[in-house]
Amino acid sequence: MFLHGTSRVNEKGHLEIGGVDSTELVSKFGTPLYVFDEQLMRDTMRAYKAAWETTGLRYEVAYASKAFCTLAMCRLVAEEGLALDVVSGGELHTALKANFPPELIHFHGNNKTPDEIEQALAAGIGAFVVDNFHELALLGALAVQQGVVADVLLRLAPGVEVHTHEYISTGKEDSKFGFDLSSGAAEQAVKQAVQTKGVRLVGLHSHIGSQIFETEGFKLAIDIVAKFYAQAVQEWAAQDLTVFNVGGGFGIRYTEEDAPLQIQEYIEAIATAVKASFDRLGLEYPEVVIEPGRSIVGNAGTTLYTVGSSKDIPGVRKYVSVNGGMADNPRPALYQAVYEAMLANRATEVPSEVVSIAGKACESGDMLIWDAKLPAVQAGDILAVSSTGAYNYSMASNYNRIARPAVVFVQNGHADLVVKRESYDDVVALDIVPARLMNGVLSK
Ligand SMILES: *Cc1c(COP(=O)(O)O)cnc(C)c1O
Repeated sequence: MFLHGTSRVNEKGHLEIGGVDSTELVSKFGTPLYVFDEQLMRDTMRAYKAAWETTGLRYEVAYASKAFCTLAMCRLVAEEGLALDVVSGGELHTALKANFPPELIHFHGNNKTPDEIEQALAAGIGAFVVDNFHELALLGALAVQQGVVADVLLRLAPGVEVHTHEYISTGKEDSKFGFDLSSGAAEQAVKQAVQTKGVRLVGLHSHIGSQIFETEGFKLAIDIVAKFYAQAVQEWAAQDLTVFNVGGGFGIRYTEEDAPLQIQEYIEAIATAVKASFDRLGLEYPEVVIEPGRSIVGNAGTTLYTVGSSKDIPGVRKYVSVNGGMADNPRPALYQAVYEAMLANRATEVPSEVVSIAGKACESGDMLIWDAKLPAVQAGDILAVSSTGAYNYSMASNYNRIARPAVVFVQNGHADLVVKRESYDDVVALDIVPARLMNGVLSK
């Protein structure tokens, strides 16, 4: 398993993160446990800003909070001076509860409800990334009702797709998100936004995918959207356009095979492409926004499990089960995501067997890792799965009525609980039994 950030093997032969021994974390907080390396998250956020500083462009880095959204995480992002993307009333509520500056919040999503829009307008958020005509009209009407003008970006579908590792411009996009360029919907959206009372069109947005390992896709999309930006300004009277949002999707290393670029390489490529396009079109440089999610939190997260039962099928495979699985990490079951693991309590021992790590949910598909090379695993060992910071806690469920794990931030030898472990009473807290189903119980 690759050791990211402050993770290392200490003198006791244990995995240590943020200067805290993982076996101590387990004694104190139990398992499964999500452990976040705070310094690594801070360093990554700073690396994005530092990379932009060298470009001379105006910029904003917005953390896509859907990757991992809690009160403490919102505070961390606020302290580092980043903006924040939310995609639901729940994420918005979390950010506001954390006193995240509302003017730095962008609201995404393809079906914002009237309640969510009203909540965001009342909070005075920075911008809405408008996805479709329904939303444009709804937002305009609700803003007029509240007597405010909402800054909006239009989400465009530039028709850039990944085809077996290469990005190509297809001109068409089959996606639920955004205004299509090729059909004319995007042009219509600009013209309509300019006319819509209650909204001010300040920018254009595109987001081409996730786990992107090269820069070609960004360059293609920038070229396409910049041309559209020029038309919007010069032909369709969108004179308030200043923001050019190129989305997120910067890849991270989950396994040895993954080879993401350095943060500076992504940013330099984006900045160079924006400058080239805007120079060619004779436009003033825009403020460039990026929206990294996974790359800020992914490698910073490690999940600690306790090993339980094993099943050896001679000549076939050995299954080793842990006390978590798809309820805390649905990504392997959802999209065959691949993770690496180590024994946190026996980190210096050389691997001696190949085992497959099973979750405890009642699903054959609840497998966390196929064919992990580990020392002879025993019940009671602590299994650490790396790079679980993104889309793990945020996608966790109570499937099988499994209580969700606790989350700790570690730094400088300290561990702080940032999300409490759910209790079984938490799991049933919202259940209601109608009186008519209580008959047997009441008659006793
Ligand atoms: C999910 C998402 C992101 C973040 O993607 P990552 O792969 O986590 O960096 C950014 N922008 C938009 C619009 C998204 O939907």
